[in-house]
Amino acid sequence: MAKKKVVALGGDGVGPEVVDATCHVLQNAGFDLEIIKPPCGEAAMKDYSNAFPEETRRLCDTADAILFGATGITSVAILAYLRWFLDNYVNIRPVKYYVGAGTCLKDALGIDFVILRENSEGMYSFAEGDLALLRQKLADFRTIMGKSLADFGDGKFALRIVSERGTRRFAKYACEYATQRRKNGYLGKVTCVTKSNVLRQSDGLFQSIMEEEVKKYPELSYEHYYVDDMARRLLRFPKEFDVVATENMFGDILADEASELVGGLGVVGSACVEGKVAYFESVHGSAPDIAGRNIANPTATILSAKLMLDYLEMHQEADALERAVAAIYKDGKNLTYDQGGKATTMECAKAVLRQMK
Ligand code: ATP
Repeated sequence: MAKKKVVALGGDGVGPEVVDATCHVLQNAGFDLEIIKPPCGEAAMKDYSNAFPEETRRLCDTADAILFGATGITSVAILAYLRWFLDNYVNIRPVKYYVGAGTCLKDALGIDFVILRENSEGMYSFAEGDLALLRQKLADFRTIMGKSLADFGDGKFALRIVSERGTRRFAKYACEYATQRRKNGYLGKVTCVTKSNVLRQSDGLFQSIMEEEVKKYPELSYEHYYVDDMARRLLRFPKEFDVVATENMFGDILADEASELVGGLGVVGSACVEGKVAYFESVHGSAPDIAGRNIANPTATILSAKLMLDYLEMHQEADALERAVAAIYKDGKNLTYDQGGKATTMECAKAVLRQMK
């Protein structure tokens, strides 16, 4: 069988450091992968005056999967391409506790759920502008309170788009995903999170489509919480969840919150799938406050690579990588500063590699 081709893009800030460390593990673990590291991000900006050179984009189009570091300001075009142009409309964010990770809870043992975030629309539809423009186009529009757009005066607007097509495809994915997890021994529960009591039309639609789709899967159980209530429940009852399905911005915020249950942003990886080429990235951003110091925790990117290996149907390799991560947390001797350790990014990655040998 031909080697799977992975394009690794560091991006900005700590991105290149954590991607290099992860590639070091993947390349030296004997996995059957061809890893290509074309120029991109802040480094490419210096050398080519272009953060996303044409050749890099072409390599992404023909890859089996893409491993991505992080976006600051420079690499926004890369993220836009990977997420919106390639149409990876589902973001899978597992929240799983590994013994030894720096949780904010007294007892995190057994936390193991997944946040599925709609990744293409909602509040991140990039449809913003001047209120004056909206006022001009929608002269007769009234809010439920009877206010016209002119009543607001000058300012900006952001459209929060919840399309039927976008929500339906996401809801179907969430149900299939929960069904698959159920087969692997999980609860088989979908928790839909919205703010449909206030956003009655947009989140009302999101919720009703989720409910229509879940009904087609009688083996799944279902519950719905408002996002403010969910923010609290994540802290109080984190072991009750299985698959949490929510809108783009809610998923973004809840995942950062949930990361603290299991050790913080340095530990939580993610997969962006269902588009033309899937890509895999940590939940954290470019962390400019620690960039260039070789102290960022590479675990979030290593666990993103684990999701990538599963996606590439390299399940034994994915399991081996996850077991190695679990082992270094349990042992605790090679963890980075965010976990109370002293290891550098590369030392932490090398410890993961040693566990696999
Ligand atoms: P974005 O807007 O892209 O989410 P941000 O600057 O808001 O970026 P992050 O880059 O996610 O947020 O960083 C938030 C905090 O978490 C920072 O203090 C950062 O140093 C810390 N952090 C993020 N990633 C890591 C990591 N891999 N290891 C250690 N600390 C991290």
